[in-house]
Amino acid sequence: MTTVGVLALQGDVREHTRALEAAGVTAVPVRRLTEIDAVDGIVLPGGESTTIDKLLRAFGLFHPLRERIAAGLPVFGSCAGMILLADRVLGGREDQQTLGGIDMTVRRNAFGRQVDSFEADLEVAGLAGGPFHAVFIRAPWVEEVGPEVEVLARIGPGEGTGRIVAVQHGTLLATSFHPELGADHRMHAHFVGMVQGENQRRT
Ligand code: GLN
Repeated sequence: MTTVGVLALQGDVREHTRALEAAGVTAVPVRRLTEIDAVDGIVLPGGESTTIDKLLRAFGLFHPLRERIAAGLPVFGSCAGMILLADRVLGGREDQQTLGGIDMTVRRNAFGRQVDSFEADLEVAGLAGGPFHAVFIRAPWVEEVGPEVEVLARIGPGEGTGRIVAVQHGTLLATSFHPELGADHRMHAHFVGMVQGENQRRT
């Protein structure tokens, strides 16, 4: 049986737990290293990336988690979680650090004040069954990705030109939006497939 943890320091933990259970795995909140070491993969939820960063350090989890990600622990970061997985951040707080792992530059709060929160239907590569209804809340976007990162979804004007809002790099998955809100669990199911050794789109 596959067990997936949801980092439970701050953010929308319960929604992710529910979505993972709906995708067919056992989901548990994790906040200790021993708990992290007992799961097959982990979700970094949305919330506030600066706060989660601070709490990770306060709980002594920052460096161990960073090492485990670098060693191949499958991780899915949504929104603030995407920021935490980025190797580089624009618009972060001065002392803000990330766990890193995905060769990308993410811009924090990128969509700006006018459109703090919005929803959109997105075509996501690898998700069968039509567009995914995505909820964006003070979301980041991805400004630039390295050659090994696969772009799964963009939002904006036209085919191949919009802002990048979903990526995969080996066993790491990140979305600008919140797939845990709503009843469509295909994004979580995709991650579960990655944890179980399928859907690994490594180039
Ligand atoms: N703006 C938040 C941050 O910088 C992310 C928002 C979210 O996770 N909904 O961390």
